[in-house]
Amino acid sequence: MGTSDPRIRSVRLAQLDTRYPRTVGRNARLGSHGSGPDSHVAVLVTEDGRTGWGLFEGPPGDVARVEGRLLSELIDAGTGVLDDADRWLDIALHDLLGVVLDAPVHALLGGRGSVDVPVYDGAIYFDDLDPQDAPRGIEVLLEECRADAGLGHRDFKLKIGRGNRWLPRDEGDVRDIEVTRAVRDAFPDARILVDANDGYDLDGFVTYLEAVADVGLFWVEEPFLDDADDLAALRAWLDAKSPETRIAEGETSPDVGALLPVAAAGSIDVLLMDVLSYGLTAWRRLMPDLAAAGVHGSPHAWGRPLKTRYAAHLAAGLGNVEIVEGVPGDVAGVDPRLLRPVDGVLHLDGSPGFGVPLPDEAHLRKIVR
Ligand SMILES: [Mg+2]
Repeated sequence: MGTSDPRIRSVRLAQLDTRYPRTVGRNARLGSHGSGPDSHVAVLVTEDGRTGWGLFEGPPGDVARVEGRLLSELIDAGTGVLDDADRWLDIALHDLLGVVLDAPVHALLGGRGSVDVPVYDGAIYFDDLDPQDAPRGIEVLLEECRADAGLGHRDFKLKIGRGNRWLPRDEGDVRDIEVTRAVRDAFPDARILVDANDGYDLDGFVTYLEAVADVGLFWVEEPFLDDADDLAALRAWLDAKSPETRIAEGETSPDVGALLPVAAAGSIDVLLMDVLSYGLTAWRRLMPDLAAAGVHGSPHAWGRPLKTRYAAHLAAGLGNVEIVEGVPGDVAGVDPRLLRPVDGVLHLDGSPGFGVPLPDEAHLRKIVR
């Protein structure tokens, strides 16, 4: 046992290979998502030899601010990272704090949710449109759902909005409907979520919803560019036709201050700010207000598999999360069982921190930018 308030000896930055099970294609706004991004990680080592680590995204902050400091000067167990300048280490600092206190992050966060966290498959993109010269059609999406079911997934989020950029509007809208219905027919018990990445307008989206009204969508995500009146109109339409269908918003560059009143008024049911770029500390501050307003959270986790595990700890810790975004894939040196759901559920045990041992040295590569 070391001290409960160790000093940080070193901050090391490295890169880990990440591989999706297959190339992930286009969505309503962006081209191919590739076969797996590099994952940048920060490794914190204390003077008494303990280690915490985790992903960071974007440019690293100032390492010199952290080396030589006491852990208690950097993170508070009750609130999270103390100084905004150190927020890029949000995950690694929470992991280290868990290691030092011998507690899982979900317990540090309050243990308000279940440690059996439902996870949906977030990797069903527009692969029916590829390759461009010989599109594979809807069957490939059903194959992908079946493959991901083999990896433990039971619920699926379908990208829609093909008519925004990649197909003529009418043709794309028809394909979205066909895909949604085909997945429902093949997976009668699945929760089906759809994500348009703002690729519709209100009228077009309601037309889509009318055509899939009997599918029973679990949630609709980013149907169109944020607009309070349009969201209220969509909520009213759903209340009449499909009251259980949730509206999820707030992933793309969210102005959280502007979205909160819209959510509190009942027009957004789930807020989606990213588990890394918005961050764990910000979610810790926000979630009680969301819960009081009757709004759920579900941190965006695409496109790194470890983000799903971080989001699951957030869900189990802060509560008020119904389901978390799953990113199928492998991370070099990480036991795949720590990243994959079983029967649609990621189980978190009592291992300290995020419960993911630091990958072996051979997997930690120099960061190339
Ligand atoms: Mg999305």
